Amino acid sequence: NKCTSFLRENLLTILTVIGVLSGTLLGWGLRASGIEWSRRDVMYFQYPGELFLRMLKCLIVPLLVSSIVSAIGSLDLSLSGKVGLRAIIYYMTTTICAVMLGIALVTTIKPGRGSDAYSQPNVTKKLVTKDTLTSDTLLDLIRNLFPENIAQATIASYRTRLAYDQNDTKAIKGHLETYKIEGDYQSGSNVLGLVCFSIVLGITLGKMGEQSRPLQNFFHALSEAMMIITGWVIWLSPLGVFFLVTAKIMEIESFAELVGRLGLYFMTVLLGLFLHGFGTLSILFILATKKLPCRYIAKMGQVMATAFGTASSSATMPITIGCCDDMGLDPRITRFVIPIGATINMDGTALYEAVAAIFIAQLRKVDMSFGKIVAVSVTATAASIGAAGIPQAGLVTMVMVLDTVNLPAEDVSIILAVDWLLDRFRTTINVVCDALGAIIVTSLSQGDIDKTRALQNDRELAPA
Ligand code: ASP
Repeated sequence: NKCTSFLRENLLTILTVIGVLSGTLLGWGLRASGIEWSRRDVMYFQYPGELFLRMLKCLIVPLLVSSIVSAIGSLDLSLSGKVGLRAIIYYMTTTICAVMLGIALVTTIKPGRGSDAYSQPNVTKKLVTKDTLTSDTLLDLIRNLFPENIAQATIASYRTRLAYDQNDTKAIKGHLETYKIEGDYQSGSNVLGLVCFSIVLGITLGKMGEQSRPLQNFFHALSEAMMIITGWVIWLSPLGVFFLVTAKIMEIESFAELVGRLGLYFMTVLLGLFLHGFGTLSILFILATKKLPCRYIAKMGQVMATAFGTASSSATMPITIGCCDDMGLDPRITRFVIPIGATINMDGTALYEAVAAIFIAQLRKVDMSFGKIVAVSVTATAASIGAAGIPQAGLVTMVMVLDTVNLPAEDVSIILAVDWLLDRFRTTINVVCDALGAIIVTSLSQGDIDKTRALQNDRELAPA
């Protein structure tokens, strides 16, 4: 009957949601038990979840590269250009909408108003710390698009560092510098660089035609193999998220901040994410596809639960692609746009960055002129593009947004206490936006796909 077939079809999703809920309950139970859990105890609890996460993460680089290369290679070049352009327009539109919604909410609700605990930040302190400037972060973002070594890009990305050294004061053309601008590779793959390289490789293989066939077959087979492995790993997600969530709840120092000082800020971000997910994105979806999004969002339960459990859109990416396959979308489109979306399209992160920066400015009683608000929206968008799809990456790129309102990097510590939970909610919105985007781009490109197919058929049927 209907009920059993529903249960059978959605078994894994139901189990994963149960995993998140029971992990939360067990975490609370363990806290409430009165036993003092050490870091080692938490590590043991987290261990099975860590193994699940490692399996997913291991799939990211081969899946990302092979999917993009084979998808672009298999599409007609002009078609992949159109698909790519539509995806980029969708990503930019939704991110800008998210930032504007965040700014509207934080300036109306004013979660940071009326607190006297924070004074104006100490400006001299800013000089002696190793803060990087907005320009450094933006330049790094562009530098990382062009990896100098593709093997290194799979393990590290470039980050500028300012090293303060009073004894090594150097004057260049009258500018007295008290720090050295250095750069370094930091662990964590340069996914942006890999995406960029894969796009170029895919286009090139497409242009080369027959000669590139063996390589195209290789990437196609690799991407299919990665998806088969994903299909196995996905069955571990209920247990994986269960242990990840349990350990996270055990390790949190206190929940007081959630209802206390940061409560209103927390609720502002949450409200923004909710309105963006169910309002803005749904409206865009209806406008673009002339269909209601509910049926599709209901099918994304597995993706949402995994994003919430892992707090990583990159780790969730294989599952997002699998979900799009299940929804019957054209794999040449989803395997092209989902890996790019998981890397650069982070609406939840953009919204949170804007709200957090303005919230801190309100606490610090920094006046927000119109110009500063514009600067926050631009940098929050860039910061969300630059953020890696890993837990709390948004917190790192937030430094750039804070810098535009002249606040020191250390101020991110103010919102640290609730970030672990907000991260999970914003990651969920990030991946939902990617999946909805894949449906929208597929629906908008259907006409072009049909036209290309008809042209190919005509060519094949034409007498030689
Ligand atoms: N954890 C987020 C993601 O993976 C990024 C962030 O906002 O920190 O999408």
